[in-house]
Amino acid sequence: ARPLSIERILQNQGFGARKLCRILVRNGAVTVNGKRCEDPDETFATEGLVLEVEGVEGVWPFCNNAYILLNKPVGYECSRAPKHHPSVLSLLPDPLRARDVQPVGRLDVETTGLLLLTDDGQCIHVLTSPKHAVPKVYRATLAEPADQSLCDKLLAGVLLKDEEETIAADACKLLEPQILEMTITQGKYHQVRRMIAAAGNHVKALERTAIGDLHLSADLAPGEWQWLDAGSMLKAG
Ligand code: URA
Repeated sequence: ARPLSIERILQNQGFGARKLCRILVRNGAVTVNGKRCEDPDETFATEGLVLEVEGVEGVWPFCNNAYILLNKPVGYECSRAPKHHPSVLSLLPDPLRARDVQPVGRLDVETTGLLLLTDDGQCIHVLTSPKHAVPKVYRATLAEPADQSLCDKLLAGVLLKDEEETIAADACKLLEPQILEMTITQGKYHQVRRMIAAAGNHVKALERTAIGDLHLSADLAPGEWQWLDAGSMLKAG
């Protein structure tokens, strides 16, 4: 890729209209590869470029598409037009919203944990396609202590209301009497909660801990996010 002026780079990465990006640079708010840049027309190679902009948290690696891993807290909707709660998008800084990143699939308002977001439509398509059957791992806190018979039922398959065929967990184990870890490859509405209800227990809290080979890291607090590269995002497939 040919070098681009810093104002174009900023515009392209979601920092606002070109005029505004010029002003940011002239005001000394922009650091490129660790050095302040005050000339909006100065050009840079985009590969490996890192931006920091005053007033926007974090460092910004230049990327053609943004791949984000968010630890979703309770009380946020995965929809872009949320009805009763704020959108998960409100947890991200402006430039990412400007780039129109979208959640890959959805988690319920009450569910926490690993949520991927990207502005790469192709990637969303691949990761959410039923054909791909991406394994997703959930950790459910149960209302009642359980034993192996609950896992056996979930592995054998349960019949959900309005479904014609039984649906089974791909893997299932009790980590503690009231903590169940379960892997599913589909993404039906409230699937984990409904499956566990159909098996005779009840979910009090639900967290997604992994999608494919991507795991939620223990140092990413609820509400925090981190960059992924395209390669690691596709590991989720
Ligand atoms: N299953 C559920 O019940 N809720 C989720 O958010 C995801 C899977």
